[in-house]
Amino acid sequence: MKLKLDLRQASQIYFIIFYLVTGIFFYQAVHLLPLLGEAALQYRFPAVEAFLPISALLAAKQWLVLGVWDSIHPAGLTILLLAISSALLFKRGFCSHLCPVGTASELLGEVCQRLPVQMPPINRTLHYMLFIPKYLILGFFLYVILLGMPIEAVVAFLNSPYNTVSDVKMLQFFLVPSSLTLQVITVLLLLSLLVKNFWCRYLCPYGALLNLFAVFSPLTIRRDCAACSSCRQCDSSCPSGIRISSAHTITSPECTLCQKCLKVCPESGTLSIRSRVGGMILKPFHYSTLIIGFFMLGIGLARLTGYWESPLLAQFWIKFVPMLHSLGHP
Ligand code: SF4
Ligand code: SF4
Repeated sequence: MKLKLDLRQASQIYFIIFYLVTGIFFYQAVHLLPLLGEAALQYRFPAVEAFLPISALLAAKQWLVLGVWDSIHPAGLTILLLAISSALLFKRGFCSHLCPVGTASELLGEVCQRLPVQMPPINRTLHYMLFIPKYLILGFFLYVILLGMPIEAVVAFLNSPYNTVSDVKMLQFFLVPSSLTLQVITVLLLLSLLVKNFWCRYLCPYGALLNLFAVFSPLTIRRDCAACSSCRQCDSSCPSGIRISSAHTITSPECTLCQKCLKVCPESGTLSIRSRVGGMILKPFHYSTLIIGFFMLGIGLARLTGYWESPLLAQFWIKFVPMLHSLGHP
């Protein structure tokens, strides 16, 4: 059997492997800390901070209000701002090309489609109602962080012992999950097997945040109604549950530009990625190159300019990781 990957799938595999390796190295860093001291941090890749979105949101507020870049988890803020600006420019390609959780959700969706028993399609009213929880979770965090917390409290949190070891706390969360965590993960897995892409579609607050910016993106999927044979294969392929076959232009911010609809469409050229103004067509390969290149360039620049590695983290780790279990939320 010949395995033919497109650039998007190759990127997904790369980032899944990258984050698995990052996780293993991070485990090493934590466990070698008592033995190697500061040298153990060479095993900690700053990319782990992608999994600290709350800390990154707080850091974004500190940057917006005081103009100060977070020096504890600088990569977390860099990744958040890259994801937001990529949504503004290129819609949610971050979700379909780089996010490892998005890839896992997509894989579960593939399994879901191959199960012998299939759930009937979700009714449209229910589909839209199910969007509410992710916006409620996002609204809660945005309200508390942007409006509820005074800037002094934000700065105090960012420099607290708890935040300096929040990455290690996250590792503990995954390595020694509570029974509640296991129950929640089991329910999410089951839901993802029943409904394609359940987590990304209906629950991910990070995706909901990107949606707020993706609505302004100049890119869209366009359907040439005259060339369309109304086979509706695009509708059944869409992981976001978008009704492509009845639209001329896909304006939904839920579109992750995963290109699945373009791949399955039997009428060549009927669906295309276009700019809203001028109607310029972007080939799927070029779109993938743009979104991956945007992140690679952003991360490269952040590394060169000191917005990636923390100069302070090693000293905080030495002091606070041994006290991990006694450090509570400030
Ligand atoms: S509309 Fe097409 S590109 Fe957008 S999420 Fe659905 S299948 Fe992917
Ligand atoms: S898959 Fe292509 S031809 Fe079929 S309904 Fe969608 S756009 Fe039309």
